[in-house]
Amino acid sequence: MPELPEVEALAGYLRERAVGRRVDRIEVAAISALKTYDPAPSAAAGREVVDAGRHGKFLDVRLDGELHLVVHLARAGWLHYREAFNSTLPLKPGKGPIALRVRLDDGSGFDLTEAGTQKKLAAYLVTDPALVPGVSRLGPDALATDLATFTERLRSRRGQVKGVLTDQEVLAGVGNAYSDEILHVAKLSPFALTNRLSEAQLATLHAAVREVLGDAVARSMGQRAAELKGEKRAGLRVHARTGLPCPVCGDTVREVSFADSSLQYCPGCQTGGKPLADRRLSRLVR
Ligand SMILES: [Zn+2]
Repeated sequence: MPELPEVEALAGYLRERAVGRRVDRIEVAAISALKTYDPAPSAAAGREVVDAGRHGKFLDVRLDGELHLVVHLARAGWLHYREAFNSTLPLKPGKGPIALRVRLDDGSGFDLTEAGTQKKLAAYLVTDPALVPGVSRLGPDALATDLATFTERLRSRRGQVKGVLTDQEVLAGVGNAYSDEILHVAKLSPFALTNRLSEAQLATLHAAVREVLGDAVARSMGQRAAELKGEKRAGLRVHARTGLPCPVCGDTVREVSFADSSLQYCPGCQTGGKPLADRRLSRLVR
C-alpha cells in the first residue's frame, strides 16, 4: 500500500516529468474510480500541469486555472508513467487494471492502475483539494510535525499506538507498513496505549517517525516510478518479514493477524521478549 514516502516520490517524479506539459485528455476506464462528475474530465483538456504534490497519502496533480486531479491509491493502486502509449484509441471501460489514463501533449502520460478485485482507488477532479473529504479531515503531515504538535496529536486520541499512528486524522501519511517500521525503531509495542506513553517515549517515537519516513523518501526519490515498489520492500526491517531474523537483535519477527490486515514486530526489541497474543492463532490452538 503506497504511503507517504511512495506518494512523495511519485509526486517528485511527476514534477520532473509532467510539469510544463499540457493535458491532452483524461480517459476514465473504471467509472467507479472517479468520485466527482463536475468538473467533467473533459475540463482538464488543454490545461498545463503546473505542480504535483501530496496531502498525506493523497497525490495532487495541479493544473492551471486551479483544477486538481487528487488521487488516493488505496491498497493496490499505483501510478505508471508511460513515455508513449501503444494506442491512441480511448480506453475500453471495465477492462483490465487501468482505472484512469492521463495523456499529455508530448505523447507521454500516466496510468492509474489497481490490482486485485477490491477496487478502492479513488480519483477526484476538483477546484480545491480541500473539497475531497479525506483531504479536509487530514491531520498534520507526519514528516512536517514538530515534537510539540506530535505529542499533542498522539495524546488527543486514546488507544493502541499502532492504530493512532495510522489514523489519518491524527497524523497524515503513515500506514500499515511504515507504522510497523516506526514502532520497531522506537522499540515500542504496537499495542502500547498512547495515554500511557511517557514524554521520553513520545520523543523517541517522534524521532523514529522522522527517521523512518525520511530514509524511505530519500531511498524512493530518484528511483523511477515503476521501480518504487520493490525499493520499499528492500528497506524494511520487520514489516512483511514474519519468521525472519530481526536485523537489530536477531530475534524472530512475529505477526499479529486481523480480519483484513496484519502487523509485524520483533519481541526482542519491542515487547520485552514476550510474543503478543494473536487472536487468530490462539483460536486455532484451542
Ligand atoms: Zn529485534
